[in-house]
Amino acid sequence: MINRRFLPLGLAAFMSFAVLLPLRLSAQTSPEAFLGFKVGADRKLADYGQIQAYFKKLDEESPKLALQVIGETTLKRPMIMAVISSEENMARLDQIRAVTKKLRDPRALPLAEAEKLAKEGKIIVLVTCSLHASEIAASQMSMELAYKLITGDTPFDAAAVLRDVVFLLVPSINPDGNQMEVDWYRKFLGTKYEGGSMPWIYHHYAGHDDNRDWFMGNLAETRAVTRVLYHDWLPQIHLDEHQMGSEEARLFIPPFMNPPVPNVQPLVWRGVNLLGANMAYDLQQRGFKGVEHGRSFTGWYIGAVDDTPWLHNVYGLLSEMASVRLASPIFIEPNEIPNSHTKKIMEFPDPWPGGWWRLRDLVDYELTLTFSLLRTAALHKEEFLLNSYKMYKNSVETVDSGQPYAFVIPAAQHDYPTMLKMLDVLQFGGVEIQRAAKDFTADGRLYPAGSFVVLMAQPYKPYAWALLERQKYPDIREYAGGPPVPPYDNAGWTLPLQMGVTCNQVEKPFAAELEKIDTVPFPDVTLPAGEPAYLVLDARANASYAAAFALLKDKAEIFRSKEKISGAGFEAAPGSFIVTNGPAVKKTLPGLLEKLHLKAYPLTDAVSIPKTSLKNPRIGLYQSWWANMDEGWTRYVFDDLGVPYVTIRNSDFKAPKTAAGTKAKAPTAAASSVTVDLKARFDVIVFAGEDYDLIKTGKVDPASPWARWFTPLPPEYEGGLEKEGVDNLKAFVEKGGILVTLNDACKLAIKEFEPPARNILEKVDSAKFFCPMSILRLTVDNTTPVGYGLPEMTPAVFTGSPALETWVPLTTDWDRKVVARYPESDILLSGWLLGADVIARKAAVVDTQYKKGRVILIGIACQARAQSHGTYKFLLNSLLYPGGE
Ligand SMILES: [Zn+2]
Repeated sequence: MINRRFLPLGLAAFMSFAVLLPLRLSAQTSPEAFLGFKVGADRKLADYGQIQAYFKKLDEESPKLALQVIGETTLKRPMIMAVISSEENMARLDQIRAVTKKLRDPRALPLAEAEKLAKEGKIIVLVTCSLHASEIAASQMSMELAYKLITGDTPFDAAAVLRDVVFLLVPSINPDGNQMEVDWYRKFLGTKYEGGSMPWIYHHYAGHDDNRDWFMGNLAETRAVTRVLYHDWLPQIHLDEHQMGSEEARLFIPPFMNPPVPNVQPLVWRGVNLLGANMAYDLQQRGFKGVEHGRSFTGWYIGAVDDTPWLHNVYGLLSEMASVRLASPIFIEPNEIPNSHTKKIMEFPDPWPGGWWRLRDLVDYELTLTFSLLRTAALHKEEFLLNSYKMYKNSVETVDSGQPYAFVIPAAQHDYPTMLKMLDVLQFGGVEIQRAAKDFTADGRLYPAGSFVVLMAQPYKPYAWALLERQKYPDIREYAGGPPVPPYDNAGWTLPLQMGVTCNQVEKPFAAELEKIDTVPFPDVTLPAGEPAYLVLDARANASYAAAFALLKDKAEIFRSKEKISGAGFEAAPGSFIVTNGPAVKKTLPGLLEKLHLKAYPLTDAVSIPKTSLKNPRIGLYQSWWANMDEGWTRYVFDDLGVPYVTIRNSDFKAPKTAAGTKAKAPTAAASSVTVDLKARFDVIVFAGEDYDLIKTGKVDPASPWARWFTPLPPEYEGGLEKEGVDNLKAFVEKGGILVTLNDACKLAIKEFEPPARNILEKVDSAKFFCPMSILRLTVDNTTPVGYGLPEMTPAVFTGSPALETWVPLTTDWDRKVVARYPESDILLSGWLLGADVIARKAAVVDTQYKKGRVILIGIACQARAQSHGTYKFLLNSLLYPGGE
């Protein structure tokens, strides 16, 4: 519900609140009275419905709090945000936001005016809670925080702080996940599984990766909060509250550790450090132990919700509390605390001795650090507002060392609709984009009218720059010549490389007639005139595959060309779709082309074109019970492109159990080990990137460093494919099925099928080869089905990926085709790569034929977090394999 008080109010309305105030104060309901338990009590959790209802109650009871709906979650829950401030401020929120907006653009605001606005303006602070739904404490704490603020039960003069601060509080930025976690916790409360992990991801598509989406905006939740951050409210400070492991520090707060993203303005880090240091001070003076900074969490990333603010000249902070088991307390023996956290060091001056650790402890730390943040924001209000202006001024006027003049996105693109999608992503992050009205020359290169230009001189310069440039991650070692220290997440993320978009960095100023675009200029697309017999959809565009799937659903006749098609005014790549122009096509295609911003080309005769027919594939996507995020992202890509699929689980690979618990034998398979005919249900089975042992046995290798993160699952979720499932999968391929394994799941194909390929990186020493999530160069054979539509040089995301060595098959059961390989040199495009020679000339994508079927090894993250649009086609081609029977 949108609150009336959110709207600008006249003086009369304000007066009426003032008159009612004494009554309202006495009427405010505490969380304890509302929930029936104290926030953070052992084994007690409020679910999202209760949290929402409580905030609604406060909204009704207090003039200092207004509830706003900022969007809808993936599973269609309302996302709520509480706006908390003094009554005076609540009555003029629109004016306060207008001041912030003015301060963001120094091109239209002289310093003297900015100084005046900083004096009269208010600072806007955003706090977001429990993005990672199992890190649940902050979502619970938020209720008490709001209550204490509006009733003045704070370690400072709340009225004074709320005079200067407009506080935006998002009690959960993953409401769907909050509900899942609380439901799961309640279900197993009092059993041996109490407080354990769920067998599925806590965001419908992303799980923990919902904090890797903040430049891409794939998720509804990301988009809702990004609108608050960079479009609607423009807070100067943002804190995102998380949890970490249980045994080390009690709490991490900034300063962050090295390295920093180089594009961030130093004043951002200074502000972050000031706010973090004050939190640590406020916690210490109240006796909270075990607070650390400067370790564990780096300043190098762009995809997390607290990181994109740095690049938007906003103070972005992260807090990470030591976890309990959801709401169940734990006891930590002193010897269980690692050595790194038993001694006093400057980053950790007051170690925690061990003992009981409960949800309420987390709530108390979080209340204290959040209050501290608000108080520091109020203390420095005027200065922070003016500094905000100064940072935007720097972005617009100062030329930083190494700063290019612009990035140019030429009008001619390999995949034009995907380029438009990239422009949309940039605008979503607040980046200003210009379009050239006439041809121009930059760096000696001619660009046609209609090319796009991102000038670096703009308020969000650091963000645009960091997103478009190629990252060079610093070579950091444990000691000189020793093993590399891995980055927190991506070493490189360059958006144009991930999306397969040509984007050139231009160092020197150039003259061009540029117009700023307000929205992405999607072209008008219509069917070619004259009712041609066929329509061609170019395999270079991802959108063509989306159209092909939609048309196949409508029973259209579609072929894939084996060679490139040269027609009237167009040339389409090998693998392009030739659609027979029947009645269904005439009805469906115009709408599809418009939605996908895709062009279709006319073709009068297809007889002379070598081609094979396509049928609508029956696709199965494997889902383990180990909350695999890569499976979630694969589902996202499928849903986004309209790929039809069925989720298949371990039980689908095995004969159903009879009532007595013994296996039923399939009647026709008495003599063989095959118990389920997968080929009768599917043409293609896809395994998203996942650990081989988890797929095969469902058990974590106890020697793995991750083992203690995996709590045992209830019996109905135990196990993996086992031998029976693998045997049935083999029979599926032998009969003509297509098995597709992505990234680390290639190990399943390699171990169980023994194709003429192996992973040379399986046991490689990190001192010899090391490549944290980075973008590498591939050479692609785009005349072969799995490579159709890809450019010969294709950037690809490497993350825990194999590098494949292939050989001449030993029997005629097998054949293999290398689709993509690493080149001889210049492999690294963005990020960090040690030992490039180890993978030089090795294969990344191999299409093998096994008996009547295929095993396709896609040894890169071709659909990484639904960001790497540039390599989707490896997967899409495997699904729409031409002539597959
Ligand atoms: Zn987290």
